[in-house]
Amino acid sequence: MNCPGCLKEKESGFCKKCLKSLFDGQKVEQVLPFNSPYEGNSDFYLEHTKKISISGVQVKYSLRLKNNELQLTHIGGQYILKPIPAGTFKFLDQAPANEHLTMQIAKQFKLEVPANALMDFKDGSTAYIVRRFDQIDSKKILQEDFAQIAQMTSETHGKNYKYDLSYEEIANLIKKYIPTYKIELEKFFRMILFNYIFSNGDAHLKNFSAMQTAQGDYVLTPVYDLLCTRIHSPTESDMALDLLTEGYSQAYEACGFYTYQDFFEFGQRIGIKNSRVKKILAEFNTSNKSVYQLIERSYLNEECKKLYAEYYEDRLKRMNMNVVSSN
Ligand SMILES: [Zn+2]
Repeated sequence: MNCPGCLKEKESGFCKKCLKSLFDGQKVEQVLPFNSPYEGNSDFYLEHTKKISISGVQVKYSLRLKNNELQLTHIGGQYILKPIPAGTFKFLDQAPANEHLTMQIAKQFKLEVPANALMDFKDGSTAYIVRRFDQIDSKKILQEDFAQIAQMTSETHGKNYKYDLSYEEIANLIKKYIPTYKIELEKFFRMILFNYIFSNGDAHLKNFSAMQTAQGDYVLTPVYDLLCTRIHSPTESDMALDLLTEGYSQAYEACGFYTYQDFFEFGQRIGIKNSRVKKILAEFNTSNKSVYQLIERSYLNEECKKLYAEYYEDRLKRMNMNVVSSN
């Protein structure tokens, strides 16, 4: 068994470092002291929680830590718990391990990732847990997603409103509303590139947010809801939103998918210096040994590990192909 937080080799339970980052050092067991919501115990859940959000098929619960134990709560939640989602997508029982692995990989690519791990319910079913970043000392930090920032709702823009802007347009909103946009745009560029390379095809407007700092201005929040969605929905589109507001690159017209050239152009258009765009692309554009290591050590089943690695290689090939031809 590997540490269900960082995936490093460990005999059982969380390593010291993960106990610290997840639970401030409290000795929390990997097994939750209650059953999953599916084994006929919905009354228990109704008593102890308000569902904090239902987005699509994913139900999320709020937890707090008390005396080394995680409890369901409807106030003062410090963690979000995501059990196996219900629905008809493929390999849904692997979704918690997929999200956990993807968030661990995101750390390798310098994305800001809140502490997260895999937990087991008492009945053996798994769940993904992540520490909330939207509160300090139980005070809620002001936070808005980019649908709210763009003032887009289902009433104003129809039921597909979350998919109604391009990534370039989100970048323009970052420039408009975030004073330190030069730093934030690079973060954003990294996120978009990560989503493409790791086949997260559902990074829509609500999956990006800005939050208020102690000084009162806004920065991008850490990442959330990252997973290789292609495992669950193999025929979905490559990206939730178009990269550019208008038109595609010549390479896109020729290949029918995004390549190095598209991301280079995207980086330029949103105002990142050429040398920085190249540097960030270079960090992603080599097959990274630690990615394969993490896939291997993850809690995915063998079939999904194989798919995860295949999809990764597929995207790397797309990006490498153009590296060669654009030089
Ligand atoms: Zn660990």
